[in-house]
Amino acid sequence: MTLLKYIAAALVLLLAGYAVASGISGVVRMTGHGARRVSTPGGRAPVIIIDPGHGGIDGGATGPNNIVEKDINLEIAFILRDLFAVNGFEVVMTREEDISIHDPGTSGIRAQKRSDLRNRLDFTERFTDNIFISVHQNKFGDPDQRGTQIFYGPNHPGSELLAELVQRNVVSMLQPENRREHKRGGRNLFLIYEARGPAILVECGFLSNPQDVKNLTDSQYQAQIAFAIFCSTMEFLGMEFPVSLAG
Ligand SMILES: [Zn+2]
Repeated sequence: MTLLKYIAAALVLLLAGYAVASGISGVVRMTGHGARRVSTPGGRAPVIIIDPGHGGIDGGATGPNNIVEKDINLEIAFILRDLFAVNGFEVVMTREEDISIHDPGTSGIRAQKRSDLRNRLDFTERFTDNIFISVHQNKFGDPDQRGTQIFYGPNHPGSELLAELVQRNVVSMLQPENRREHKRGGRNLFLIYEARGPAILVECGFLSNPQDVKNLTDSQYQAQIAFAIFCSTMEFLGMEFPVSLAG
C-alpha cells in the first residue's frame, strides 16, 4: 500500500470509531479496532506512550507567526496515537490538551516543570512494558539548520535501534538531503535519560528554518512524519503492517 492509501485506510477506521478503554489521570487510554490488542512476534505488544513535549505555560520553542512548539507536538502526537490505535496497540498520551501535568498545588514555574516531567516519567513506570516516544521541535540560531533528528535514552539497548530506524526512515521517506545521525541523549533530555524501556525523543524539525516551519505546520507532512515513526516502531517490533486492517 502506498503511504497515502495507508493513511486513508487508517483514517477510515478512525471515523468508524475506536474503543476508549478507560481514563487514567484525565488522560485517555485507548486500544484501537474493536479493542483487540495486537501481538508482536515476541508476544504481547508493549504499550505505546506518546509524549507531546511541553504544554501549558511551557510553550517550548517558538517560530514565526506565533507558532509554538507545544501545539505542533500535540498535532503530530495525535496522528501518531491514531496510527497505533487503529492497528490494535494500547496507546497512552502524557497529555491530550494544552496543559502542564504538574501536581495540583505546585507553585512556581520551576517546581511546576519539575513536577510535570516527573509525572510524565511516571507513565513509563506505570506501564512497565512500554515504548516511549517523545515528540518535539527544534530551534537554532542558524536558520539554515533543518531536518529531523532522533535522540535515544541510555538505559535500554533497544532505544538506539529504534532511534536509528526512525532516523533512517524519516530520511528515506521524507528528507533525502538530511545527513543528521541519531544521537544518544544526555541528562538534559530528562525523560528519555531516565526511562527504563526503549525511549526516543524525535526532534521533528527546526522552527528556526522557514522550510521546516512550512512543512511542520502542514497537516499532511505531520501525518507523514507520524507515519515514518509508526513504521519504524513496527520494524523495531518485527511486525508486518497493517496488522489488523483485514480482521
Ligand atoms: Zn521541545
